Amino acid sequence: MKGRVSVLGSGESGRGAAILAKKSGFKVFVSDLNKIPKQTKLTFKKLSIDYEENKHTLDKIIKADRIIKSPGIDINSDELVDLKKSGIDVISEIEFGFSQTNSKIIGVTGSNGKTTTATMIYNILKNSGSNVGLAGNIGKSFSECIAENNYQVYVLEISSFQLDNIIGFTPDISVITNISPDHLDRYNYNFDEYIKSKLKITVNQSKNQFLIFNSDNKVLKKAVKKYSKKATLFPYGYNSPKGNLTTTIINKSIIVKEKKNINMYNTSNFSLKGRHNLLNAMAAVSVARLLNVSNKCIRDSLISFSNVEHRLEEVLKIQNITYINDSKATNVNATFYALESMEGQTIWIAGGIDKGNDYKELLPLVREKVKSIVCIGLDNEKIIESFSPVVDVLVETRSMSEAVKIAHKLANKKEYVLLSPACSSFDLFKNFEDRGNQFKKAVRNL
Ligand code: ADP
Repeated sequence: MKGRVSVLGSGESGRGAAILAKKSGFKVFVSDLNKIPKQTKLTFKKLSIDYEENKHTLDKIIKADRIIKSPGIDINSDELVDLKKSGIDVISEIEFGFSQTNSKIIGVTGSNGKTTTATMIYNILKNSGSNVGLAGNIGKSFSECIAENNYQVYVLEISSFQLDNIIGFTPDISVITNISPDHLDRYNYNFDEYIKSKLKITVNQSKNQFLIFNSDNKVLKKAVKKYSKKATLFPYGYNSPKGNLTTTIINKSIIVKEKKNINMYNTSNFSLKGRHNLLNAMAAVSVARLLNVSNKCIRDSLISFSNVEHRLEEVLKIQNITYINDSKATNVNATFYALESMEGQTIWIAGGIDKGNDYKELLPLVREKVKSIVCIGLDNEKIIESFSPVVDVLVETRSMSEAVKIAHKLANKKEYVLLSPACSSFDLFKNFEDRGNQFKKAVRNL
């Protein structure tokens, strides 16, 4: 036996960590303050994994060589506050996964664009014939993926919460798509703490490993200077990045410069909309170049890539009005790019739980493109206050079907109805998927 591991939480990452730990020969104990899903309990029983639910028994938890914490667990909660005194390493699930594999790792983080960029990278690598898996914050956890597969390369979508408890985790290639204020409620409303946590993806990287980052994003550029110690830098962006390795875009062509070697990829046939998706494509192409994927494969993959659900997803055109589902836009920056990519007057459906939003940066775009706002949230006061000076019609609603019906009445031919809430969904919906699905259903019922 390799030793003992305690796992806090039994959701996607806790379950994955427990399964991998057991399969790797550790003695495992899982503790969850809530009920453990039936299916998960069955899995644990089958694998002889010891567990408790509806409580945290500290004495049992600390009988371990290391503790793996799920991202949703608050280590400062009353039940766990004494854990620190035990002196046992508390690590995240991705840290544990990392310790159990020798595969190549591409880690993607950022405030927005993680799923889209990670999926693009995965598609290019898969099309190139690579034995590659996609995991992390997307689909299965990294640990469960390692337990069940034998991929040579992993593309991991990684949130800042997952980076909070890493120690030695080191991707071969790190990608940071951007940093803008988000989840500040989890970082004591301190933007610097959030920035630091995102940059943890690169702190352990050495010279022969790469940090691909969006150098248009000033906050990120500054943070890279401050926190990146040794990684080889690979900036990308519209604003002519500088260095030996760079990616930019000129006249719709993505241009990758590797010292004197230049490669170009035309994006005219690219099916994704918006400037942000071209940034995501620049990041994905940069990864592909580092992994020596052929130019033909990169070009073909870019053309065949279609958007991930709930991200600027065109739902239907009814009476020449286009309905777009961008339910995944849970912060101001994501909504900025959604509004920017609208090609006509827009009825904007927005609102939900505000994570400390500052709507100022949206004002010029809203003034230019938004005809009316349909609010969908329990508390819409901040939206109304921020935008009533620039939009004449603001309507409050409490259900998606009502919101869509009203938007439909307000819209004229050639206009857009855009759901891009800039807020999280938990006041009226189960999650952003539920919100997006209800939107699509309401549109189809029009
Ligand atoms: P994440 O996984 O980081 O949440 P997604 O790819 O799921 O990112 O996209 C989330 C939201 O952000 C969507 O509304 C999408 O249109 C928008 N978005 C995607 N890429 C970017 C980007 N590079 N910059 C800003 N917003 C983006």
